[in-house]
Amino acid sequence: MKADNCIFCKIAAGEIPSKTIYEDEDFRAILDLGPVTKGHALILPKSHAANLFELPEDVASKVMVLAKKLGAQMKENLKADGLNLLQNNGEAAGQTVLHFHLHLIPRYENDGQHIMGNPKEATQEELAEIQKIIIG
Ligand code: AMP
Ligand code: ZN
Repeated sequence: MKADNCIFCKIAAGEIPSKTIYEDEDFRAILDLGPVTKGHALILPKSHAANLFELPEDVASKVMVLAKKLGAQMKENLKADGLNLLQNNGEAAGQTVLHFHLHLIPRYENDGQHIMGNPKEATQEELAEIQKIIIG
């Protein structure tokens, strides 16, 4: 189902033009308009889900299978050295478009990008505390 006024719904449906690199009945993959590296692409489900928490499980399964296939094709054809998958949920996580999308970011030696910048240190005690909280 499409959501009103959702730009990625419109792009996924082909109502707004995009540089499409893949399409099937469930997904469209496009080039990101603001690429962080050469070939930065987005996989968009054709049915609207705002984020990972809303994404149906069958779509979640399929999107990773597609990322594997497309990621390998991109790495090969772009002669990339690596690939990051990135998926933002919520403003705090940097999500700016509220329609689920999976970033495929080809990486090149010395491309100057830092996808996971600024790591902190944690003690074993701190990690154990967080482990307890997450398991619940
Ligand atoms: P996020 O921050 O995870 O929500 O990512 C949104 C991404 O969508 C950004 O990398 C934008 O550059 C990209 N973007 C926004 N609008 C468009 C568009 N019309 N076509 C292609 N990419 C877009
Ligand atoms: Zn949408």
